[in-house]
Amino acid sequence: MSSVATAPTASASGGRALAGIPVVPGVGAGSVIRPAERPLLPQLTGEPAVSEEGRPAELERFQAAAGVVAERLEGRATRASGAAAEVLEATAGLARDRGLLAAVAKRVKSGVPADQAVVGAADQFSAMFTQLGGLMAERVTDLADLRDRLVAELTGQAEPGVPVPAVPSVLLADDLAPADTAGLQPELILAIATTRGGPTSHTAIIARQLGIPCVVAVAGLDDVATGQFVLVDGTSGEVVIEPDRVHAAARVEAAEREAAAVAAWTGPGATADGHTVDVLANVQDGAGARKAAATGAQGVGLFRTELCFLDADSEPSVAEQARIYGEVFAAFAGREGGSKVVLRTLDAGSDKPLKFATAPDEENPALGVRGLRIAWGQPGILDRQLDAIALAAEQTGTSPWVMAPMVATAAEARDFATKVRARGLTAGVMIEIPAAALHAERILREVDFLSIGTNDLCQYTLAADRLSADLAHLNDPWQPALLQLVAMTAAAGVAAGKPVGVCGEAAADPLLGAVLAGMGVTSLSCAASAISAVGARLAQVELAACQKAARAAVAADDPAAARAAARESLLGV
Ligand code: PEP
Ligand code: MG
Repeated sequence: MSSVATAPTASASGGRALAGIPVVPGVGAGSVIRPAERPLLPQLTGEPAVSEEGRPAELERFQAAAGVVAERLEGRATRASGAAAEVLEATAGLARDRGLLAAVAKRVKSGVPADQAVVGAADQFSAMFTQLGGLMAERVTDLADLRDRLVAELTGQAEPGVPVPAVPSVLLADDLAPADTAGLQPELILAIATTRGGPTSHTAIIARQLGIPCVVAVAGLDDVATGQFVLVDGTSGEVVIEPDRVHAAARVEAAEREAAAVAAWTGPGATADGHTVDVLANVQDGAGARKAAATGAQGVGLFRTELCFLDADSEPSVAEQARIYGEVFAAFAGREGGSKVVLRTLDAGSDKPLKFATAPDEENPALGVRGLRIAWGQPGILDRQLDAIALAAEQTGTSPWVMAPMVATAAEARDFATKVRARGLTAGVMIEIPAAALHAERILREVDFLSIGTNDLCQYTLAADRLSADLAHLNDPWQPALLQLVAMTAAAGVAAGKPVGVCGEAAADPLLGAVLAGMGVTSLSCAASAISAVGARLAQVELAACQKAARAAVAADDPAAARAAARESLLGV
């Protein structure tokens, strides 16, 4: 993945800020170290430059170098664990690979100097691995790393890779070879930032395993010199060059406190001064619900039912649907005081087509017959789903709340609520369309609750396809225009005395969760993995600070300013 092309900006911590993709949360600040330069590789002359009688010694020289390199890698593998150990063992294994060693030996025996023989054999094997494709092709990076280590050893150049710093430092690199990342010592590497790489790159995977804060795809890192003082924020994606030291130390300390608070949070959701906000989970099946029930989640805020049927060729029977829904209801059944489980009726269409429900060949499916609109032409699908939900509720002795996706008008909300209430269930709708947010007050007259889907509300408000990588900056849940619509909807809920939750990705951002609470949102629903961070952040802030942050974020000019303003109000940094 290429780096995020944004110009450096001034940071709230002083210094110059670069932006990248955050992949491992946490903050580290310290002096920059960089991997040693890769060694200079010899030109391949193809000439038999080593005399007949010198060849056995040249072969021995190569074998000794291969042994040293393999032993070093094996030594580091035994000191590592998990994915890191596997990567190191794999590279060490290559250094002992008989085929590769034989290919080098053959060249040396014909008079090619050992360093050139290594490069030649590595080229030959790279071409072979690339042709084989798949996992073998991924080994080309390992092979290049091994080639460089062998050439360095044979020619007396510095061993490539990350130097072991005398004091804990921040590692900046263009990219990191798998063996470099795997050998990192977490106690000496405070954070990592790379120009290249993506969220699933080797660097990200191993940094995650080692718990080292990490940002990838940062543009402008090349200009940062070894020894400069930098701060890397693996939560926000910010890399600050020469920040104010006191400010930086405060940010590091705050991140450490935050990590401890997240680990300790068990719920229920409330601000430090006791204002309650339910922290709920987004799930898509029984297994996910059971996993969420093991966290501090107080219930389910969004059960995406359409995801249960993505592979179904035909509409599942009422009994089959009831069985599936019942698994989710049962995961939170029997808790003291009861648990909220909010199920969403099928949101088929656009990015989630269902064979039995989606209209074929629409010109513009995101604006087409999706979500609740499917019931206009095929009312039986919604009726049977509601029957199945009622049956599952009866079978599990639970009282789920039921909401419709993609509702645009109060009339649609009324029709839906009538059907839901006829089955003795609690009725609500999602607010995902700007028209619905603008008419939240009228819609609330028709239903018992609202749930704001910030993912779609953002794409429709900014007119930016949420699947487009080019428009990702517009689909930012901190967009002030989106926040204004959310605030209006939450205010309508407060006025009506009815619950208004948020179940889009906005609710998974702990800082934004506090802002939403300040707007009057009554529940935050997010992926199970984000629950503790969202709950812990809420528990550390007072309602008045959340309200101040909400006003400041809505008043900001852009997402970055909204984030900074909320940070200032809630964290004082
Ligand atoms: C949303 O749009 O915010 C939402 C929660 O629904 P989905 O992401 O499933 O479209
Ligand atoms: Mg949606």
